[in-house]
Amino acid sequence: MLNFEFKNPTKLIFGTGKIAQLAQEIPADARVLLLYGGGSIKTNGIYDQVKAALASYDIVEFGGIPANPEYEVLLQALSVIKEQSITYLLAVGGGSVIDGTKFLASAAYYTGPEPWDILSQSIRTEHGMPFGTVLTLPATGSEMNSGAVITRAETQEKRSMGGPGLFPAFSILDPQVVRSVPQRQLANGITDAFTHVLEQYMTYPVGARLQDRFAESIMQTLIEIAPVIMQNPADTDAAGDFMYCCTMALNGLIQKGVPTDWAVHAMGHELTALYNIDHARTLAIIAPSHYRYNFRTKREKLTQYGQRVWGLTGPPEEVAIRAIGRTEEFFHSLDIKTKLSQYTENYEGTAERIEERFTERGWLGLGEHKSLTPQDVRTIVEMSY
Ligand code: NAP
Ligand code: FE
Repeated sequence: MLNFEFKNPTKLIFGTGKIAQLAQEIPADARVLLLYGGGSIKTNGIYDQVKAALASYDIVEFGGIPANPEYEVLLQALSVIKEQSITYLLAVGGGSVIDGTKFLASAAYYTGPEPWDILSQSIRTEHGMPFGTVLTLPATGSEMNSGAVITRAETQEKRSMGGPGLFPAFSILDPQVVRSVPQRQLANGITDAFTHVLEQYMTYPVGARLQDRFAESIMQTLIEIAPVIMQNPADTDAAGDFMYCCTMALNGLIQKGVPTDWAVHAMGHELTALYNIDHARTLAIIAPSHYRYNFRTKREKLTQYGQRVWGLTGPPEEVAIRAIGRTEEFFHSLDIKTKLSQYTENYEGTAERIEERFTERGWLGLGEHKSLTPQDVRTIVEMSY
């Protein structure tokens, strides 16, 4: 096991009806900016619950944060924060609203000339405006981590940011919110969380027994609840398991003491930036090719994954190969397509474009051992066509 430090200060508040507890978590004298997305919270009752819980507060609202939160839109929210002397942010939404809120928490205290620098120059946020979240869509784990991904449509870029100042102060996880989540987003949530685990698990060398079993248990639970939740998102027990899996998949726990990969996300973000494909679907496109391309180095872990998660038996090498196939079939069972050409006709040249972008940015070594070159990336993306 590698050396590590682990601190996660986010308070999780899980349970049916817990949105009513909001007022206990936000300082009474806070001037709150309530942030939300395209309006789903207005039709599924979550907005009303939040407003009722915060009746005694001075609240300003900013809606319209799009999926893959857009820099230009967030700059409008940043003006509101400044003009209205906001002191506390409340994200009510999925990963996009929460990530957008993290950007604002950072930008609100940023004194440099252009907030995009936080992303383009990878400036770590040590201190951000305090914020909490009401999660409406289990998927990203953003509700209990300190990372965010922001899109700039103008330049077709999607970049990451983070830092210890960007953990939510609290996150409310009420499994009842899952009832109104559309099938497409349920499938995305399961796929994103599953791939988050893979990114932190499918690495070498093998050797952290407890972290491996944490990771395997999350994947096994996701596989078990996937058909249940797709069939009936109002099943509160399954919804609770789904939510907690997504949170635990990316709150830091399973990545401690192990090498982590994240190359699938790096490549996937480019597909969203270029073709606007849902985040989770880009991962399902890239992951199988990534594991096939890196089969030699990841073989031992692929075998362990095949045996323990999918219950496969037989010669180790064969188990490893079949494990990749089972992963693809799992995505297909959620009606998620795993080839780029199934999402866009203009896929020719994508691999070269991504190779070029990574080279320009100086991303010359990806993966758990920083050994994947832009040329390797090109081949993996080509294999995903
Ligand atoms: P999302 O983009 O936040 O939301 C997708 C859609 O689901 C939106 O149209 C939203 O509608 C709708 N929705 C949300 N909750 C709903 C509910 N309860 N009922 C009905 N509809 C609902 O999806 P996401 O997958 O959670 O987030 C994706 C973003 O997170 C991507 O940008 C991705 O790169 C990023 N990400 C971040 C991390 C991280 O650790 N920070 C990790 C992985 C991915 P409304 O807009 O109308 O609300
Ligand atoms: Fe993700």
